[in-house]
Amino acid sequence: MNAPREAVIRMYAAREEIYPRETGGRYATLRWACVWLTQLLFYGLPWIQLNGRQAVLFDLASRKFYLFGIVFWPQDFIYLAALLIVCAYGLFLVTAVAGRVWCGFACPQTVYTEIFLWIERRIEGPRSSRIRLDRQPWTLEKLARKGAKHAAWGVVALWTGFSFVGYFTPVRTLGGEVAALALGPWEAFWVLFYGFATYGNAGWLREQVCKYMCPYARFQSAMFDQDTLIVTYDAGRGEPRNARRKLAGAGDCIDCSMCVQVCPTGIDIRQGLQYECIGCAACVDACNGVMDKVGKPRGLIRYATETALAQRLGPAGIRRRVLRPRVLVYTVVLGALVAAMATSIALRNPLKLDVIRDRGSMGREVDDGMIENVYRLQLMNTSEAPHKLRISVAGIPSAEVAGDDVVEIGPASTRAVPVRVRIGPGAGHPGSNRIAFTVTGLANPDLHVSEEAAFIVPK
Ligand code: SF4
Ligand code: SF4
Repeated sequence: MNAPREAVIRMYAAREEIYPRETGGRYATLRWACVWLTQLLFYGLPWIQLNGRQAVLFDLASRKFYLFGIVFWPQDFIYLAALLIVCAYGLFLVTAVAGRVWCGFACPQTVYTEIFLWIERRIEGPRSSRIRLDRQPWTLEKLARKGAKHAAWGVVALWTGFSFVGYFTPVRTLGGEVAALALGPWEAFWVLFYGFATYGNAGWLREQVCKYMCPYARFQSAMFDQDTLIVTYDAGRGEPRNARRKLAGAGDCIDCSMCVQVCPTGIDIRQGLQYECIGCAACVDACNGVMDKVGKPRGLIRYATETALAQRLGPAGIRRRVLRPRVLVYTVVLGALVAAMATSIALRNPLKLDVIRDRGSMGREVDDGMIENVYRLQLMNTSEAPHKLRISVAGIPSAEVAGDDVVEIGPASTRAVPVRVRIGPGAGHPGSNRIAFTVTGLANPDLHVSEEAAFIVPK
């Protein structure tokens, strides 16, 4: 008797290789402008020097972040939190207005995939050649082309990993270590790790990152409404399709499949909005090219909103509906957050002061019956300039700093200063008295910071 056959249930579909066709047009130009802009920034920023050090450096070892002359310390973590909130609101706002425009034009996954695809096309040829090459058996030519492609990808990936680590270790030092083959183990690990992630994501995984791994793709539909810009196929104008261009009364779509061939996620936008669509508008460029050739108006596939399609609104009608409550709320919150953050950074006092009383010595009587307490002042200079500072004390009549009251502190540094404070006989009451230390810039009296402390008078 034959054993019953087990049903096989596949939990996910095997990936089908996608060979996006190269396309030109307004949106392709815009995407390449984004590639150049983002990569010039990413690769170039670590090489800019300011005040004798890297202008943008996240120095984890000394727990200082340098950002164009502003130094952030661990105490400034609030700014990082605020920056993340600003980025989140910025993304909400952009998504509510223009859908997945970030995904299609500026997301690192899109940008690096675009770069890797460009290399692939230069080495393996256009779409049809790439398909043929993949299907043919291994030959010397295939080996050479594939080897050259992966070598070029590897160079870009390693340079990306190197640039990434250059934000955390001074990039010039890092470059010297690479040249001398003396890279530290952690730096080597992160260069390879980030490089490998770039190579894997942009070279192999590509659209699968957007489809299966990106959390933003999952929740952004919650920010869409019927007035959000999406890439849409105008079915009212395109259907019924006119493949042979002979049907009387048929639509403008000639069923050439160019929109599918250029799509980096391999979908057919004519089937309606799909979660795989990253809004890159490659299909818009491709279809516009086809419409030009067949002498029809452009825009069969275009950026539009559901409302615009239903009510046949043009660009002016779409613009009129942009300012809706959701967009206004995001804009107001974002504007307020940015203004609050900028004001807080602009007004930030570069001096910080902590006072620690020397618990080893209680108040003691010194010369002429004066009472002395000893403190340790922890000074922090968060600016990129050195400062000469005067230490003064108030709160008890006759209170003064004994000894030298002027200290110097270097740029972006901390310094511990032992300070003795004396008061005259009879000043203050037995027990604990409140005093306040003030540290003032000698060259700039507006630069000052105060901190309270206790002065102990023996009973
Ligand atoms: S590119 Fe335009 S004409 Fe060609 S199949 Fe797509 S929608 Fe139809
Ligand atoms: S359907 Fe069009 S916009 Fe969406 S991912 Fe494909 S090519 Fe880009």
